[in-house]
Amino acid sequence: MAKMRAVQVAKAGGPLELVEREIPTPGSGQVRVKVRACGICHSDSLTVEGHYPGIKYPRVPGHEAAGIVDALGADVPGWKVGDRVGIGWFGGSCGYCDSCRRGDFLTCSINPQVTGISWDGGYADYIVVPKEALALVPDDLSFVDAGPLMCAGVTTFNSLRNSGARAGDLVAVHGIGGLGHLGVQFAARMGFHTVAIARGAEKAALAKKLGAHEYIDSTAGDPGKALAKLGGAKVIIATVTSGNAMSEVLGGLGVDGKLIALGASPEPIAVTSLQIIGGRKSVAGWPSGASIDSQDTLKFSVLTGVRPIVQEMPLEKAAEGYKLMMENKARFRIVLTMGQS
Ligand SMILES: [Zn+2]
Ligand SMILES: [Zn+2]
Repeated sequence: MAKMRAVQVAKAGGPLELVEREIPTPGSGQVRVKVRACGICHSDSLTVEGHYPGIKYPRVPGHEAAGIVDALGADVPGWKVGDRVGIGWFGGSCGYCDSCRRGDFLTCSINPQVTGISWDGGYADYIVVPKEALALVPDDLSFVDAGPLMCAGVTTFNSLRNSGARAGDLVAVHGIGGLGHLGVQFAARMGFHTVAIARGAEKAALAKKLGAHEYIDSTAGDPGKALAKLGGAKVIIATVTSGNAMSEVLGGLGVDGKLIALGASPEPIAVTSLQIIGGRKSVAGWPSGASIDSQDTLKFSVLTGVRPIVQEMPLEKAAEGYKLMMENKARFRIVLTMGQS
């Protein structure tokens, strides 16, 4: 059997280790993808730390994968060897629960499949995935750029386009990291009056370069007040991974304003009914998108010039890259490359 490299976690809380494995064979309804790039996402920590229920170890993390279809199992209509594809968080669904029957596959209640959690993800030379997980990557988009758009990208793009905000509305992106630096680009290109909120004055120039019309330094005062002064936001997408930080910007919501939490945090978001009743405000969440939403994200990115800012690292340095990401030192997305032609 031919061998490949994979970076796995042998048990919950264990280290990321480079191992040699047999190249897997796709079963019915599956394809094998020769991975060319895979972004490192904060949610990979769910696999590494075992914080997602029911993970079977050893497990290979990685749900920002992009590569080339290399082999087809039986019953995979519509895809062919050589297709350029991306694989994100959404890894398929049961197909028969109420959500699935409504076409809302992402909220599948019976068997939601997650790449790098339900089965092995993209920190490897090859990955076998259900056909439902595939998004087509446009020819004009590199694999390295496609990777982060498969999770950080679709999460910000899809939450914004479903937020109810309309062209010209004040929309804030809270946090300029892996998600936020894409969120600012999407918000500006969707025609929103875009406000970036981040810690420190030094990120202002970058925020403006990404397309932000305004910048709020959250360390310089009350960021909610500063946002309210600009007119109050119709939408705030909160990409920070801190409930406390999200609480601080709530005061910046305008009438019918909605804070949409994208960054996962165990800390509560503190909000009183008094803060939200009068202006019909709300606090909500949003979880990425299905594979067709990812495909829409990639197409929109090519159409409008949205690209992630990435730091490439070879697959064998996955543990180092993961550590940098967890220490909040990634600028802005670390992408593993497999070094294959
Ligand atoms: Zn992710
Ligand atoms: Zn379902």
